[in-house]
Amino acid sequence: MKILVAVKRVVDYNVKISVNASQTGVETTNLKMSMNPFCEIAVEEAIRQKEKGYADEVVVVSVGSQACQEQLRAALALGADRAILVEAEEGLESLAVAKLLAAVVRQEQPELVILGKQAIDSDANQTGQMLAALTGYPQGTFASEVNIVEKSVAVTREIDGGLQTLSLILPAIITTDLRLNEPRYASLPNIMKAKRKPLDVVSAADYDIDTRPRLTTVSVVAPAQRESGIRVSSVDELLNKLKNEAKVI
Ligand code: AMP
Repeated sequence: MKILVAVKRVVDYNVKISVNASQTGVETTNLKMSMNPFCEIAVEEAIRQKEKGYADEVVVVSVGSQACQEQLRAALALGADRAILVEAEEGLESLAVAKLLAAVVRQEQPELVILGKQAIDSDANQTGQMLAALTGYPQGTFASEVNIVEKSVAVTREIDGGLQTLSLILPAIITTDLRLNEPRYASLPNIMKAKRKPLDVVSAADYDIDTRPRLTTVSVVAPAQRESGIRVSSVDELLNKLKNEAKVI
């Protein structure tokens, strides 16, 4: 079985971000970039399925600039076998990414496609669902457990108030939730080995796909600064302030 994993390059989750001067997005100059955390979980899951003997090849794919090679190499160091960079302009919308991923799926014919449930930059949470619609594959989103059983995969999903288990007929699409697994760290020898693993670069333009934006960003603003709190000396004073100043009781 071949597993295809989509990985996105995003601003590292530890970085404190700020809005750019033109208020069109986040300032990314000189920021540390990393693999989207939910994509790390997706890569880990694919590697675990290979280690358990269910998969024989793990292919990672990223859509974006040449810089995405860094995240693809990181995935190769974790244990993926091969990488594909679909070179495209930065910041494509989810629909455009999903269309390009669908083209890669048509070429690669994986039995399982694993994506993160959302990218922490846009928080869009829609690429996996759109890819399922475009390919016609069944989808198991927000997976917290994945078990491959012959020609199907059982996906346990975190839903409001509990867990739901779905059985998807392969080929299928899964998006990963936080509790699916804990990603490993790459060892130094594996980082060295990853440099020699195949990484193919293809151009998005070669697919003849309409990647024009459907959305216009009107403006991006930072959240209002929280006002500092005050200290009260008694419960009576607190109640008085809540009643007469904040007017919440
Ligand atoms: P989103 O729908 O943007 O929140 O992203 C959900 C998931 O789709 C990510 O965790 C990735 O697995 C995949 N994805 C989104 N954008 C890209 C991209 N440019 N390249 C590769 N995978 C992506």
